Amino acid sequence: MGWNGGIRVTHEASLAATVGSFAQNVVYRSAKDHVCPICGGAKGAGYAVCVSCSTHQHSPYKAQLADMVRIFAYAPMECSSDASNQMTRYMYRYKEEDRVGSELARAAVTEILVTELVLRWGCIKEVSGGVAPTAWSTIPSTTNSPRAGIEHPLHRIVRQVLPRVPEVKLRAVGAKSRSLSPDLFQMECECAPDTLRHVLLIDDTWTTGGNVQSAAVSLKRAGAQRVTVFCVARVVNYAFCASIGEGVADGFRSLSFRGGQWCPWHCMVEP
Ligand SMILES: [Zn+2]
Ligand SMILES: [Zn+2]
Repeated sequence: MGWNGGIRVTHEASLAATVGSFAQNVVYRSAKDHVCPICGGAKGAGYAVCVSCSTHQHSPYKAQLADMVRIFAYAPMECSSDASNQMTRYMYRYKEEDRVGSELARAAVTEILVTELVLRWGCIKEVSGGVAPTAWSTIPSTTNSPRAGIEHPLHRIVRQVLPRVPEVKLRAVGAKSRSLSPDLFQMECECAPDTLRHVLLIDDTWTTGGNVQSAAVSLKRAGAQRVTVFCVARVVNYAFCASIGEGVADGFRSLSFRGGQWCPWHCMVEP
């Protein structure tokens, strides 16, 4: 085992200790055909993609959407106000400065990004036509957010995790919306074409993907040739799953954390 292999095993063990008892890896296909191949969310059997991804694909910006979306784990909710699941709670808590547990949640997010981005850099390159990411970007708080203008906690984590990778900075110029709005973000810098070859766009939580895809469109419009999205968690609302079909929620409930056997870049379906 090489140097990097040893580091990876250490981080995989650490990640398993941190989130292994509750995290559920995101899948993009299921035997019952109820999972969106783009975002891992619930879809009706027989449909190609979920309702949100379908809306994005039928928008005028379809050619500028992210080339690939990969997500670490599900953030399950019984209904839209439920945060009893530990992964779901972490996604709220890591952003809070002074609450018990927020330090733990930030450590978990950091561990996830180190393991799945830094130590799987070669995987990202492999699934991206041999082009490794040339820059990273995160999504700034929109102008209607109480956090507007302050450094986003995810930004702070990512710049520590990827210190040697150039950043492509986005600025929010509009208020958050659930739908795809390509004028929501603007690229702040004039970046060299080499830097814009492959932008790794990192976000915390995917709900409809509207915000992330809006950022992807902004990056592409500003010259990014390839955009890969990595999110820490994907919301799955079991009440919504029940409206899609019988047994859909149970399909998501039965997923688990597969530790080092699971690569979020290569693994698509639970064995
Ligand atoms: Zn989808
Ligand atoms: Zn891999």
